[in-house]
Amino acid sequence: MSQSRRQFIEQCAGMVGASAMSGMIGRMPASGAQDQPLANWAGNYRYSTQRITSPTSLAQVQEFVRRHQRLKVLGTRHCFNGIADSADHLLSLRELKQVVELDRSARQVTIESGMSYGQLSPYLDEQGFALHNLASLPHISVAGACATATHGSGPTNGNLSTAVSALEVVSASGDVLTLGRQKDPDVFQAAVVHLGAIGVVTKVTLDLQPAFTMRQDVYLDLPMTQVREHFDEIVSAGYSVSLFTDWQKSRINEVWVKRRIENNDTLTVPKDFYGARPATANVHPIIELSADNCTEQMGVPGPWYERLPHFRMGFTPSSGKELQSEYFVPRSHAVDAITAVERLRDHVSRHLMITELRTIAADDLWMSPCYERPSLAIHFTWKQDWGSVSKVLPMIERELAPFAVRPHWGKLFTIPSPQLQQRYEKCAEFKRLVAQRDPRGKFRNEFLNANLYG
Ligand SMILES: Cc1cc2nc3c(=O)[nH]c(=O)nc-3n(C[C@H](O)[C@H](O)[C@H](O)COP(=O)(O)OP(=O)(O)OC[C@H]3O[C@@H](n4cnc5c(N)ncnc54)[C@H](O)[C@@H]3O)c2cc1C
Repeated sequence: MSQSRRQFIEQCAGMVGASAMSGMIGRMPASGAQDQPLANWAGNYRYSTQRITSPTSLAQVQEFVRRHQRLKVLGTRHCFNGIADSADHLLSLRELKQVVELDRSARQVTIESGMSYGQLSPYLDEQGFALHNLASLPHISVAGACATATHGSGPTNGNLSTAVSALEVVSASGDVLTLGRQKDPDVFQAAVVHLGAIGVVTKVTLDLQPAFTMRQDVYLDLPMTQVREHFDEIVSAGYSVSLFTDWQKSRINEVWVKRRIENNDTLTVPKDFYGARPATANVHPIIELSADNCTEQMGVPGPWYERLPHFRMGFTPSSGKELQSEYFVPRSHAVDAITAVERLRDHVSRHLMITELRTIAADDLWMSPCYERPSLAIHFTWKQDWGSVSKVLPMIERELAPFAVRPHWGKLFTIPSPQLQQRYEKCAEFKRLVAQRDPRGKFRNEFLNANLYG
């Protein structure tokens, strides 16, 4: 590893949680704001207002919505762009984070929408239940994650929004609507991945399954030739598989295989994984960083919610001072898409901390990047240098354009609005529905204007 890369990584590790003053892509705080501007988790985006209200009841949410012409709901602030931003008012539901009902026979849980996966998962496990999948970190709010089609990995696992079976929403008029998968399928399919455009989600009902145990095994240095020849077998080697690469040396640096252990069976896992060797200790996806904040590996069995995410609750996930982008292509083009990005490695690698490759099942949620497409997601954790990253993104987007690439809604991209809209077959219908539900654009913001209406 070069000296400068090591120094950079050490600095990042030391600066976890620090507010970044450079690489800002957000707006400056609204005038009259106090000293500490309200920023997103990574510190790269400053919200445009400091006016943030945290209601403690549904009635207060309704009253707030009725009283204000424009507002946005803020989740746990883990998006890297302005999707949650408002120039006027921010509403945080962090005080509303109770379990409302656990329906054992229907295998469903209803929660208030300020709850995070990290709060919900141990409760579900104690009750004998599990969610079908989790993202790389448990710190994010369920409502914010589902609004942006946040995903984990596994060719048979839909993104986290696919577990939603009902939503309670305070609409622009302040009235409460309940949307259900069975009750009104069309509106529901439009509303689950809503990008914050349809109202304030106050309750979420999620499908559950019986709690399960998992183990996590990491392999190092998988040759890229093996990925090209055995892509399907490799990504199906476990319930959830993640490939991490820096795009150098024609190899995947780390393969994280998360396997379910059924009926306390002892699994025998291969020592040789398509030419990759087993890690001999827990590792971080960026191998130079300490694995202290990572979930247990080395085949140690544990509950689903402590193996599906890469990062542990109670610790800072990822590296902290970073930017992220992610692109979804149809899984049928996975190998060609990986090869296309590999061609750009000299442009990509110098600004990159790590890439993660994951697969996701197709779904029927209109604005999901996996809408009607089993997908490969190509993720980039970048150094926090927007000036450089903003020049590399169009190159990647051009290389992936033949595969009708769709970006992650909560991460950084530069695909122009007309192209973006074309890549979502249901975009026009989604906007019609938004217009019906929110005729005066109460929940519109610059992000939506630029990307859906540009
Ligand atoms: C370290 C790190 C790791 C990540 N790993 C993954 C990963 O593994 N997979 C992945 O797909 N993404 C990942 N992400 C991206 C991120 O988790 C998601 O995009 C998610 O949206 C974040 O949820 P949030 O609550 O922080 O959302 P926010 O950024 O707060 O809000 C996102 C959107 O949801 C809306 N919203 C939130 N709550 C409500 C509500 N109650 N009612 C109406 N609208 C609402 C907001 O208005 C906004 O439009 C990661 C991000 C970070 C920082």
